[in-house]
Amino acid sequence: QAKVAIVGGGLAGCECAWRLAEAGVSCVVFEMKPERYSPAHVEPGLAELVCSNSLRSDENTTAVGQLKREMRDAGSLVLEAADATCVPAGKALAVDRERFSQYITERIEGHALIEVRRAEVKDVDAPELAGYDAVVIAAGPLASDELAVSLARAVGDERLYFYDAIAPIIAADSVDLNKAFWGSRWRPEDDDYLNCPMTEEEYLAFYNELLAADKVKPHDFEKEIHFEGCLPVEAMAERGPQTLTFGPLKPVGLTDPRTGGRPFAVVQLRAENKERTRFNMVGFQTKLTYPEQKRVFRMIPGLENAEFERMGSIHRNTYVNAPHALSEDLRLKSRENVYLAGQITGVEGYVESAACGLWLGMHLAAKFTGAHVDLPPRETAMGALLGHLFEETDNFQPSNVQFGLMPPLNARAGKNKRKEMYASRAEKAWAEWRERTAQGGDAE
Ligand code: FAD
Repeated sequence: QAKVAIVGGGLAGCECAWRLAEAGVSCVVFEMKPERYSPAHVEPGLAELVCSNSLRSDENTTAVGQLKREMRDAGSLVLEAADATCVPAGKALAVDRERFSQYITERIEGHALIEVRRAEVKDVDAPELAGYDAVVIAAGPLASDELAVSLARAVGDERLYFYDAIAPIIAADSVDLNKAFWGSRWRPEDDDYLNCPMTEEEYLAFYNELLAADKVKPHDFEKEIHFEGCLPVEAMAERGPQTLTFGPLKPVGLTDPRTGGRPFAVVQLRAENKERTRFNMVGFQTKLTYPEQKRVFRMIPGLENAEFERMGSIHRNTYVNAPHALSEDLRLKSRENVYLAGQITGVEGYVESAACGLWLGMHLAAKFTGAHVDLPPRETAMGALLGHLFEETDNFQPSNVQFGLMPPLNARAGKNKRKEMYASRAEKAWAEWRERTAQGGDAE
C-alpha cells in the first residue's frame, strides 16, 4: 500500500495529507514545531495563520471566492475548518485563528491514516524520507534554512528565491490610452511597453507624495532584504529627486507622440501575459501600504483609474522558479518522487497554498489507485492558479489567484458583468472537470 511523506504541517501540507488519507493513502506529516519555529510562526498547532486572520473574499464573483467554491466542492479541510470557526467579516471569510488551527490539528492527528511526527527535515534527500512512494515538500515561504539550501541544490541555486520584490500589476483596460503611449526605448514602432509620460511638475508632485506615503514596517527578519537588485522604488527616491529619472523612470529614447518631445520622466508598463491584459509597473517594487500605493500611483498620468490586480510588496519568501524546476504534476524535475506544494511552488496566499496542496493530494491519491487527475482547465480558478506555475517567462513571480490568469473573455462588458462571466465560466469548467476526474480521468 502506498505511503506518502509530507514535510510541513501548514496549510498546504495538511490539505494534501487530508485528501490522501480520505482517499485511503496513508501519510506521515513531518512538522518542525514546537522543536523549531520559523521567524513568523509562534503556536505549536498545525495550519497556523501567521499574519491576517482573513481568507479574503467569499464572493463567487471574485477569483479567490471562486477558488473557495471549487475547493469546498473537492472536500477541502482548510475551508471546512474556516467555515466552522469563522468570525463576522462582511463579505470576507475570516476565522478565529486559534480555533481554526485547533480544528485542523485535531482532524489531522485524529485520522487513522495520518501520523504526525514533530521533527525538522533538513534535506530533500534525508534518510527519514527514504522508502516512501512520494515525498511532498510543503515547508512554506519560511522553510527552515537547511531544507531551503538543500532545495536550492536540488533545483539549481538560480532557481530558488529567498525574497520577493514585486511590482504592482494593472489591468490593461484601466490604463488611459489618451495619455499613455506604446513604444520601446528608441523604437516607437514597438508595442512592448505602455509608457506613462510625466511633465516636471507632475513628476515632482508624485515624487513628494512617494516620499511622504505610509510604508509597511518590515519584520525584524526582513530588515536585511534591501540589496540593490530589489530596492523599493521609494528607497531609491530617498536618494534624491534625480535618482528615479536616471533609473526606472528615465525618459531616454522615448518620444511622446502627443507632444513630439521627450517627457521629463516616464513610468513604463510591461505586459505580464501574451494576451496583454495585465501590465507590470517596471521597477515599482515597494513597501508602501496598499491604500497608499493606490493613492500615489494613481497620480501617474494615464493611471488615474488604474485597477490593481496585484499590489507591490517586498518580503521574505522561499519559492522555486516553477516553470523551470517543476513538471506539471508539481514534481521536482530533478527527482523521481519529490513534489512541492503550497507557497514554495510560487502560489501566493493562504487559500492558494491550501488549494495547491489539495490538488496535489487529489493527483497523488489518483496516481496510487490507478486513476488520473490532471490539472483543471485554465478557465477554473484552481487551473488558472496552477497553470501560472508552468508559464514560461523571463521573470517568474508568485501570484495570487486572479481572473487575469484565466483565458480572456471574448466579450465586451462592464467590470462587474465581466467578473460574473469569469465566475460562471469557471463554475461550468470546474463541473465538467470534476465529472471527468470522477470517472477516473483521462487514463494514462
Ligand atoms: P506554511 O503555512 O508556512 O506551512 C509550512 C509549515 O512547514 C510550517 O508549519 C513550518 O513550521 C513547517 N516547516 C518549515 N520547514 C520545515 C522543515 N524543514 N521540517 C519540518 N517542518 C517544516 N498569506 C495570506 O493570504 N494572508 C496573509 O496575511 C499572509 N501573511 C503572511 C505573512 C508572512 C510573514 C508570511 C511569511 C507569509 C504570509 N502569507 C499570507 C503568505 C502565505 O500564504 C502563508 O505563508 C501560508 O501560510 C503558506 O502556506 P504553506 O502551507 O505553503 O506554508
